[in-house]
Amino acid sequence: EKEELKKLIEVEAVTKSGKRIEVAGNIGKPEDVHKVLENGGDGIGLFRTEFLYMDREEMPTEEEQFESYKYVLEKMENKPVVIRTLDIGGDKQLPYLVMPNEMNPFLGYRAIRLCLDRTDIFKIQLRALLRASVYGNLKVMFPMVSSLDEFQKSKEIVEECTKELKAEGKEVSDSIEWGIMVEIPAAAVMADELAKHVDFFSIGTNDLIQYTLAADRMSEKVSYLYDPMHPAVLRLIKMTIDGAHSQGKWVGMCGEMAGDETAIPTLVEYGLDEFSMSASSMLRAKQVILEQK
Ligand code: PEP
Ligand code: MG
Repeated sequence: EKEELKKLIEVEAVTKSGKRIEVAGNIGKPEDVHKVLENGGDGIGLFRTEFLYMDREEMPTEEEQFESYKYVLEKMENKPVVIRTLDIGGDKQLPYLVMPNEMNPFLGYRAIRLCLDRTDIFKIQLRALLRASVYGNLKVMFPMVSSLDEFQKSKEIVEECTKELKAEGKEVSDSIEWGIMVEIPAAAVMADELAKHVDFFSIGTNDLIQYTLAADRMSEKVSYLYDPMHPAVLRLIKMTIDGAHSQGKWVGMCGEMAGDETAIPTLVEYGLDEFSMSASSMLRAKQVILEQK
């Protein structure tokens, strides 16, 4: 079985009807790229950058972040690398960042909400990303977007950083793609509109499921409600894919569901373009994709 899977490392994930699907890896630390490459990954579908901020006493500097992003982009040699901006709050805390005490942290001060409030923190990361962009095929996405306004505000800050960098004589790629995670039901429902403005979507099912079914992803007591195949979740996924495709944009998925072999046939049927998962699931996922129509 293991040997069978290893034969797929160099094989492209193409369905029987000839659709090429990207099988990419999720990473948390720059060194994780090696596991993705060893398993034949087509790219990085999610770099969870909050790991660069965790287990330390202070914020990572622009220089430190730049080195990390550059490392990943160079190792991936022009394969797509989707880097997600800081997603802190909810279940993820930083020891040096004071957070408000909230009744419902998953519905509170989190991810892009925090970054748009703390533009000092956000700009350091964006500058590092923009500087790294010339070393590979960079795509950047914003987490927890609930409306167009948040995407547009984020892009304004990106523009500001780009101008600053150019004035400093630093190079920035002009082919970066800018996308959002679809992990709040509102974004899925509005996907056709949002798709007019973004370059791509990546569906974050870990959060999308919890928000759709009002079932905390951390709670064992309600885990029986947390069902990726719930028809409401499937409808939202389909709406997201259809919405993106209606505007000629591509859609990936980077939540756990993307690597779930029981879900993959449905996702292929819906037209999902990219599946991103832990490196250890990639070959089996490819095998399942190869069997689909
Ligand atoms: C998700 O919500 O599906 C996701 C990929 O992001 P995270 O698990 O980091 O919240
Ligand atoms: Mg999420």
